[in-house]
Amino acid sequence: MQLGILKESAAGESRVALLPESLKPLVAQGIAITVECGAGVAAGGSDAAYVEAGATVTSDRAAILASADILPVVNMPGEAEQGRLKAGAVVIGFLKPLDEPGALATAIARKATLFSMELVPRISRAQSMDALSSMATVAGYKAVVDAAGLLPRLFPMLITAAGTVPPARVFVIGAGVAGLQAIATARRLGAMVEAYDVRAAAGEQVRSLGAKFLDVDLGGINTEGGGGYAAELSEEALERGRDLITKTAEHSDVIVTTAQVPGRPAPKLIRRAAVEAMRSGSVLVDLAAPAGGNCELTKPGVTQIIGGVTLLAPLNLASKVAVDASKLYGRNVINFLGLIVKKGEMHVDLGDEVLAGACVAHDGSPVNPRVAKLLDAALTTHQVEGKLQA
Ligand code: NAD
Repeated sequence: MQLGILKESAAGESRVALLPESLKPLVAQGIAITVECGAGVAAGGSDAAYVEAGATVTSDRAAILASADILPVVNMPGEAEQGRLKAGAVVIGFLKPLDEPGALATAIARKATLFSMELVPRISRAQSMDALSSMATVAGYKAVVDAAGLLPRLFPMLITAAGTVPPARVFVIGAGVAGLQAIATARRLGAMVEAYDVRAAAGEQVRSLGAKFLDVDLGGINTEGGGGYAAELSEEALERGRDLITKTAEHSDVIVTTAQVPGRPAPKLIRRAAVEAMRSGSVLVDLAAPAGGNCELTKPGVTQIIGGVTLLAPLNLASKVAVDASKLYGRNVINFLGLIVKKGEMHVDLGDEVLAGACVAHDGSPVNPRVAKLLDAALTTHQVEGKLQA
């Protein structure tokens, strides 16, 4: 069985699907691994290290695509490369099946089996495969470190002979995986931290990290959707959150905002007035930028300076910490592969809850009902229809 590792081609992508350190269990099963030259360099994995780990390194990208039975990736290769996949190949990665289902049509037509790391069910058995949490952890850390680098103030309180410097004040909106890591990082740097989330359960986690949890009376409405996620709120409930955020922004040096509702655009929580209320030199990091952003001024992927406030809207912050992001992602991928590869043989059992949840398409058809519906809609466009018929 052949496994291929490509150099990621998306702009700004520095991660790699598997680093040399992750290959041992695959090599031990007799799986032949071929790696594209330079695939891991930006993530700390040299070509020589891949060879040492038992892989073959080649510059022939097309040959890897054509021969791989298994292709772990970070991002889905483009349409032309999907057309070169080995028929029936298994592709595993961040495939964006709910955002860009039409972009998978060529691979589906090649009868590739597509597993999306975004769709791995968040159940305890699959925790070691939860790549969304891995990347959110890295992004939450990096958001605070980047903000600290830009802020013209110190994070910790300092008592010096020249006087006392008060600690920076950090406000974290959305205390999920990324938000909790942002809180922990800001606390380690000595900042005073406040946090807000609509899920009451987040309060205890925020307090356990030494931060203050800001409660808003939302009139007793249900704020929890399924699986520990937030529900989409009414306009009135969102407005109460916005009031709190505007008030808290006035004394915050840094805001890191992470609020999301799965499958929906990010809630707009930060008004222009809140940004204008921040002191000149303050920093706002909108980690919800890939879903449109939490701030009404956010332009995804663009850094702006608005009235002296720096507004960052990064689209792929995990890639900026490519070494550890790739290490964590690779472990998630290896654990996932453990469900389909045993003793060097591949067996895809879609009766397994984790595999069924993550499977986007198998044997030429979409498997996930949400993706099937979205793909159906995409199929009504001429372009995608042509691809599937080709
Ligand atoms: P996420 O990225 O979807 O959202 C980030 C945070 O934004 C969440 O905490 C959410 O409550 C909050 N939010 C949404 N709308 C908001 C609003 N209008 N105002 C303020 N905050 C808002 O979520 P996530 O970080 O991926 O995960 C959230 C939760 O899911 C976790 O805290 C945990 O309970 C659960 N989870 C479980 C597992 C597991 O069991 N394996 C893994 C990861 C997460």
